[in-house]
Amino acid sequence: MAVEPGVADPDSDAEPAHYTLRVGEQRLDLNARLGEPLRLVWHGNIFCIHCGRRTRKSFAQGYCYPCFKSLAQCDTCIVKPETCHYFAGTCREPAWGERHCFRPHVVYLANSSGLKVGITRGTQIPTRWLDQGAIQALPILEVDTRQQSGFVEMLFKERVADRTNWRAMLKGEVEPLDLSAQRDRLFAQLESGFVPLRERFGADAFQRLDQRPRRFRYPVLEFPRKIASHNFDKQPEVAGTLLGMKGQYLMLDSGVINLRKFTGYEVSVM
Ligand SMILES: [Zn+2]
Repeated sequence: MAVEPGVADPDSDAEPAHYTLRVGEQRLDLNARLGEPLRLVWHGNIFCIHCGRRTRKSFAQGYCYPCFKSLAQCDTCIVKPETCHYFAGTCREPAWGERHCFRPHVVYLANSSGLKVGITRGTQIPTRWLDQGAIQALPILEVDTRQQSGFVEMLFKERVADRTNWRAMLKGEVEPLDLSAQRDRLFAQLESGFVPLRERFGADAFQRLDQRPRRFRYPVLEFPRKIASHNFDKQPEVAGTLLGMKGQYLMLDSGVINLRKFTGYEVSVM
């Protein structure tokens, strides 16, 4: 499933994000299917999103076990960048690490189910925010490497969540926040925490960004009051009226489904 922002103008109230479901060679415009019946049937096959091999189980949202154990992109240091072990000479794929981790990363504040901190490569903006179902986001800092962004995130985690409560996010009961004020408050509170980081990485390593918050809207006809989730592993057929899309989820009147979780599953869509 691909998600694209509607209108990327930060000064306007954006159009709802645009959702496309890729099924084999075809692309299904999900926004056009809102309010209509949708049926998804999993046929029992899962193909690794990296090597294409058939796998009995999906690891890390779409990989076969050998890829999960050998690719740098599946290593735990991707989720916990402060544990980057490149300099110990143990990166699973040093060339991949150099391309993906040793490049500018952005630390941001977002509001998906309340205030959270997160990191992303510059190129993943704004996809990352839409993926989390954020209604607002604000880049606050740019650093040179993924590891450095991990250290900053660790610092912010003392005061801010780093996860989305997906149930709250899906219920749509998220109040807008003044992210610029939150940024200023956090920088003031965490000032001393940056001292050791600057000593280690240099005075210029942590560049504050002075940007305006961005807002996002999602194509939703009706938010669920109670959240029941579908799971292909338990029930290979998912059907209902499509009520909306937010984050990685489709909302049907019969329940929600996190489609990202089933990347690589061979599914028919009707
Ligand atoms: Zn594989």
